[in-house]
Order: sequence, then C-alpha cells, then structure tokens
Amino acid sequence: MIYDCIVIGGGPAGLFSAYNAAINGNSVLLLEKNDRCGKKLDITGKGRCNVTNAAPKDEFLSNIIANPRFMMSAFSRFDNEDTIAFFEMMGVKTKIERGNRVFPESDRAHDITQALIDACKNAGVEIRHKKVTAIITENAKVLGVRCGKEEIFSKAVINACGGASYPKTGSDGSGHRLAESVGHTVTEIRPSLVPLVSPDKLCRDCMGLSLKNVGISFYTDKKKPIYSEQGEMMFTHFGVTGPVILSASAHLQSSYPCTLYIDMKPALDEVTLDKRLLRDFAEIPNKAVKNAFNALLPAKLIDPFIALCGISPETKLNSLTKEERRKIVTLMKAIPIRITGTRPIDEAIVTGGGVDCREIDPKTMQSKLVSGLYFAGEVMDLDAYTGGFNLQIAFSTAFVAGNSI
Ligand SMILES: Cc1cc2nc3c(=O)[nH]c(=O)nc-3n(C[C@H](O)[C@H](O)[C@H](O)COP(=O)(O)OP(=O)(O)OC[C@H]3O[C@@H](n4cnc5c(N)ncnc54)[C@H](O)[C@@H]3O)c2cc1C
Repeated sequence: MIYDCIVIGGGPAGLFSAYNAAINGNSVLLLEKNDRCGKKLDITGKGRCNVTNAAPKDEFLSNIIANPRFMMSAFSRFDNEDTIAFFEMMGVKTKIERGNRVFPESDRAHDITQALIDACKNAGVEIRHKKVTAIITENAKVLGVRCGKEEIFSKAVINACGGASYPKTGSDGSGHRLAESVGHTVTEIRPSLVPLVSPDKLCRDCMGLSLKNVGISFYTDKKKPIYSEQGEMMFTHFGVTGPVILSASAHLQSSYPCTLYIDMKPALDEVTLDKRLLRDFAEIPNKAVKNAFNALLPAKLIDPFIALCGISPETKLNSLTKEERRKIVTLMKAIPIRITGTRPIDEAIVTGGGVDCREIDPKTMQSKLVSGLYFAGEVMDLDAYTGGFNLQIAFSTAFVAGNSI
C-alpha cells in the first residue's frame, strides 16, 4: 500500500496535521515512537495545558520570538479563535485566564490530547507506535519512511517530530537529524524558555522564594540593559526561574555571563523610595536594621539583603548614615545576581533553533528542497514566549501542512 501521507510524530502538530490531511479524504498513517501520543502535551501548563492565547492578532504575533513573519500566513489561515472553536467542537470547553491564557475548563491537559486522538480516529487516521529512522527520497522527491528494516511508502511525509527539549517525552532532536539527512539546514539548537544558573549564595539562601511584580533587567556591562521586564520570578538551589525569567532566557541567547538586577519596588523611583524609607525609619528610630524591612521585603530576603548592603543587622535606624541609606535604596532598586548560563536543554520548555524556515514555503509548509516533504510544529526554527503561543504555532502550522496534502 502507498499512503497519501505519513505523519512522523504524535504530538499536537502531528495529530492535528494528520487529522486535517485525513478529513480531506487522504489515507494517513501517523507514526509515534512512544507507546502513546501527546506525552509532552499531557504535561503542558503544569498538567492544565495552556492551549492557546486569546490576544488580538498583532499582539499574538509580537509574542513569537523566532521567525514571526514566517508564521503570519499560517496564523491568518488558522488562528487562536479557530483553535478554541476546534476544541469546543470536540467537546472540550475552554476558559480564558490572566494574560489571555486559554485553558480547558476541566484544567486537564489530557482532555486536549484525547480530543486530538479522537479527531484523528474519527477521521480514519491509522496510528502506529514506531520510530522513524529515515526518510526515503529519490531525485529530491519523498517516497516514504523507514522504521528500522521496515519501509513504508507514501506520496507525502509530514515531519512533526518536535524539538530537542524534554527528550524524555519523545522529542529528542531526531526530527532535526531526519531533516538534515535529506539536505535541510538546522539552525543552532539552544534551550529557550529555560531557568538560569547563578553561583550567588543569595539564590540558595532564598531558595523557594517567589517574587511577584518585580522588575528585572539583564546587563552584560553597565551601559544598556539587554532585556528588561516586570513579572514573577523565583529563587532556586541553582539560580532563578519563573515566568519572567523563562521569557528573558529566550532573549538572552548567548549573552552569558551577565548580571540580573532585581528591582523590588518598580513602581517607586529612587527619590520616592528614599523619602518612604526616611518616613518609615523615623517612626521606629530605636529599632535595629534587621527589624526594619518587614513591610518592605519578603521575610526570607531580609537577612541576605542586609548582608548585601554591608550593614550590621544590629545597627539602630537612628544611627544609619546617609550613605548607608543610599546603599539600601540603590540595592532595593537593583539587587545584583550573577548569571553564568542556562539549565540544560532537557529542562527547557521549548527549543530555540530548528529546521531553517528559509527552506520551507510558509504558505504550504512544504520543503523547498524535497518535494512531498512537509513540516509542522516545533521541529522548525519557531519559538515563542510562554502563554499558549507555542501550542498555537503547532496548530497553525499543522493546519497548513495537513491541508496542503
Ligand atoms: C513542561 C512543558 C510545559 C509546556 N507548557 C506549554 C503550554 O502550557 N502552552 C504552550 O503553548 N506550550 C507549552 N509547552 C511547549 C509545547 O509543549 C511544545 O511547543 C509543543 O508540544 C510542540 O508540539 P510538537 O507537536 O511540534 O512537538 P512534540 O509535542 O514534542 O511532539 C513530537 C512527537 O514526535 C515524536 N517523535 C519524535 N521523533 C520521532 C521519530 N523519529 N519517529 C516517531 N515519532 C517521533 C515524539 O515522541 C513526540 O511525541 C510546554 C513544554 C514543556 C516541556
């Protein structure tokens, strides 16, 4: 038998492209190397699956970090509203939370996975659990795939193998190798949306502490920040993580070592903060410095912060020098944390880099090098911030690839 289409990979991009190819009347075989589809999808959004983002089009595209222009055509054919409508059609009700993040009403990521598997089964997609080891081509045309010794033939192949992050879920970079083996270029692979490593004791002293609404700025020298943002972050035994840190990591690329400055009071400028400290300290002149920050800093940060200021914790507030107060203000606006690099790609939410988008037609997702070869999802050099944007990339590109068969 020669299938109309073989889809490699049973993640969101593979399942959705297989479904779209099948409802057009094509015979479709989906090959997934794990014993079940959607292993990564099941753990997205901490098991709740942030399935897309309800932001308007321009704002949506501004959240795509790599190759947003490449995504414009796919997004205009299948956007976030279409994703919500598809899952509602499959019986999965959705809800919108803070930051326009869309989740299944049930808070169960597996409901999304199951809806995709059901859609495939209803459309007649054949699912087999095998690892594809090679793409068979002849004269720059796809003939099928090889799974070890077995050859399976098809008129088209969609490579939806995902990236290289969280390899335990199945996406171990084999999609990149398959693409390279038929002549495609793979851009530099790096972790994106990944925690950052710091040697600083302050991180370990504050391990587990979460800071909400803080300002963060990264500098390689003291002139101009390479990235600034406001949001939520967390200290860990290895350094820092949390939504605003993950987003920053996508921007920092290879700017290591660098310094992260945490602004604990982003709503106050230094003059206003100084006036507030003067007022607060004047009310409790005989208290020691160590007891003066309860309303200003989280408890776990107070001792490390005072140590950073180089002030004895027993110093009475009425004997603080102007210089010491200035130091407090400066550090409260910019706690320095040395950053030496990122955690490994195994711990990255998405993969930066992938199959070079310049070698793929954005209107069809077909390879410009091998006729009949298509791509969908994270295997390509596409990545976005957290917030449901990465799954929407998978769905939009899968829609285009599936409907191009
Ligand atoms: C912890 C975590 C949380 C996340 N949360 C969110 C979120 O809430 N919202 C969001 O938008 N994004 C989130 N993401 C990112 C999102 O999961 C990915 O962008 C998305 O899964 C990419 O889909 P994909 O189908 O391209 O690849 P994948 O989901 O990686 O699927 C690829 C599939 O291909 C299979 N495969 C690989 N090679 C072969 C082969 N040679 N033969 C056969 N099968 C193969 C793999 O086993 C895998 O099942 C999260 C990622 C992680 C790691």
